Amino acid sequence: MSAPNLNPAQRDAVEYLQGPCLVLAGAGSGKTRVIAHKIARLLRAGTPAEGIAAITFTNKAAAEMRERTRALAGAAAAKVTICTFHALGVRLLREDGQALGLGARFSIMDASDALALLRECGPTTDAALARHWQSLISRWKGAGLTVAQAQERAADDAERRAARVMARYQERLAAYQSVDFDDLIALPLRLLQEHADVAQKWRAKLAYILIDEYQDTSAIQYALLRQLVGSSGQFTAVGDDDQSIYGWRGATLDNLRRLPEDFPDLRVIRLETNYRSTAPILQAANSVIAANPKIYAKTLHSAIGAGEPVRVLACMDERHEAAQALAHIQALRARHPKSRWSDFAILYRANHQAKPFEQALRQARIPYRVSGGTSFFERTEIKDLCAWLRLLVNERDDPAFLRAITAPKRGIGAQTLAALGKLAERLRLPLFATLASPALPTALPTRAVDALHEFGRFMDTLRADAARAAGKQAAHALLHGWLQGIGYEQHLATSSESAPQAAARWGNVLDFCEWMAARCEAENASLLDVAHTVALVSTLGEQQQEADALTLSTLHAAKGLEWPHVLLAGVNEGVLPFRPEEAGNPAAHIEEERRLMYVGITRAQRTLAVSWARQRKKGRANAPARASRFIAEMALDTPERTAAAASDARARLRALREEMEKAAQAMKTG
Ligand code: ATP
Ligand code: MG
Repeated sequence: MSAPNLNPAQRDAVEYLQGPCLVLAGAGSGKTRVIAHKIARLLRAGTPAEGIAAITFTNKAAAEMRERTRALAGAAAAKVTICTFHALGVRLLREDGQALGLGARFSIMDASDALALLRECGPTTDAALARHWQSLISRWKGAGLTVAQAQERAADDAERRAARVMARYQERLAAYQSVDFDDLIALPLRLLQEHADVAQKWRAKLAYILIDEYQDTSAIQYALLRQLVGSSGQFTAVGDDDQSIYGWRGATLDNLRRLPEDFPDLRVIRLETNYRSTAPILQAANSVIAANPKIYAKTLHSAIGAGEPVRVLACMDERHEAAQALAHIQALRARHPKSRWSDFAILYRANHQAKPFEQALRQARIPYRVSGGTSFFERTEIKDLCAWLRLLVNERDDPAFLRAITAPKRGIGAQTLAALGKLAERLRLPLFATLASPALPTALPTRAVDALHEFGRFMDTLRADAARAAGKQAAHALLHGWLQGIGYEQHLATSSESAPQAAARWGNVLDFCEWMAARCEAENASLLDVAHTVALVSTLGEQQQEADALTLSTLHAAKGLEWPHVLLAGVNEGVLPFRPEEAGNPAAHIEEERRLMYVGITRAQRTLAVSWARQRKKGRANAPARASRFIAEMALDTPERTAAAASDARARLRALREEMEKAAQAMKTG
């Protein structure tokens, strides 16, 4: 067992087992560490592992917690339940869902399946409307409403229609023996509320419950928690009101306020030492969050102490921002030669902001991982185009062949491809080479052979043209000719869920072409050469999932995590804070966005940089942009401020000298 490394307040929180306990403390103060140690403590005290449940915010956090507890308590920790609220809900329903008429083998619908079902229930072909129903129904379920209650509460015709759709939707779910994500909390709650024997059983079973990131629980999760802990109040919740960032998804800080009311003997423990960040980083974080009204006043000081100042990178546009970020990271790598790529993270407000960074990282051949969203290069349309490029540079790439020949569909079906595959195997040839085999016409019907030959010819022409196309203009023309030739825009229009989605995907394709053409220019290379490196990195990307990689992440997905070097990107008005002018409640919106900024800053251990751009993309054009108010709120010692302070000091020195000279003069004359 490793030595318990805890300060007195943390130890207090770990040792306190007499009743409900809330650890309320700022970022990086060791709240999650307290949970891990407390699990080990409970095991040492003889609590059976099966009786301990620790609830985390994400599956990833659960995996990390399992790792930490194994390191602390060894094999004894294996049987501890460590999971999200949703996973715990699955367990309750699997064991006791029959009390609600649910079989043990029910299935869980993901959000996109649920959306498809809602469209059927409407019925509607309007994807946006279906999504609107989905979020409304989700909110109703999150507030614990049944269909009947939702129908009663519906405020207008649109809501009444949504409630009718909800009724059909719930019927279908039941008929399919399915549940959606919201049901994973709502149904277990109903189960415990309506079946005293089941509630009794689970309270006896779960002797102690621990919850991380308590500030981001929803009202219904809190209700479930109360059912599970019953009157014993044997639980520990840890959280930070300044890091509540899921208000938009129904999380509520009321849960923090209600805890002392619902559990009058609640013990509140505060942690005031931050073990994660250097003093300048923590100072910036504290300064930003000071602008929010306080529910609970907190102090936080750095155990690490002095460090490099926080840097602000002012950039021209998003592409320049990505280039600056890379230069910054390369410089840090040079200054910290022992660092690994996994020590670096670039964090941003919204998924789509990853794109320029991904492009720059690929170009520099730096391995990266995208979390909290789909990587640009993982998007269907970009993977389609990369498959074409891969096949272009390597005829033997069979997976690329199969993807390219079916994206878009060109009258070559599964049967034809299966027959082609058999022939290729018999001839021991790659699929592409098999197209030219004299045996092809004997193995397949003429129509199929013609279609395959046409694809082969198209590819050969494209390859020859790509080898000649050098310079931006030529590359551009060729890429657009190619997309037109294969009817790719049309393909997106027919295969996308909605017109806006098709347009967004086509936008990605145009961006990709723009980027390829720019590289031809910059590298003074033919399109085929550029395709070669892109293809190489895109295959490498598939193989090196687990390798040492830099993290690209949304701020939401970065919660609870830490990296030695963090860059917060796109810290512009309108991005972070996100479009304040469109918010229903602007003050509350800015406060939540400010907490997001606080979360971002406090992910950094050793260095922090914040970047913003003077121009940002709006549609397909650039529009002027301003630095976020949160940069000013960090109250950094900027060069100007330092210069001002220095000139101030010089002035004071001059005044002092004058004083002394005057005094000396007076003494001489006196
Ligand atoms: P967040 O609010 O971001 O979730 P947290 O309060 O959960 O942060 P932890 O992640 O538990 O904080 O801890 C932050 C860092 O400080 C971790 O690297 C952890 O190992 C370290 N740490 C915590 N407590 C101590 C301690 N007493 N001594 C040394 N290091 C510590
Ligand atoms: Mg934590």
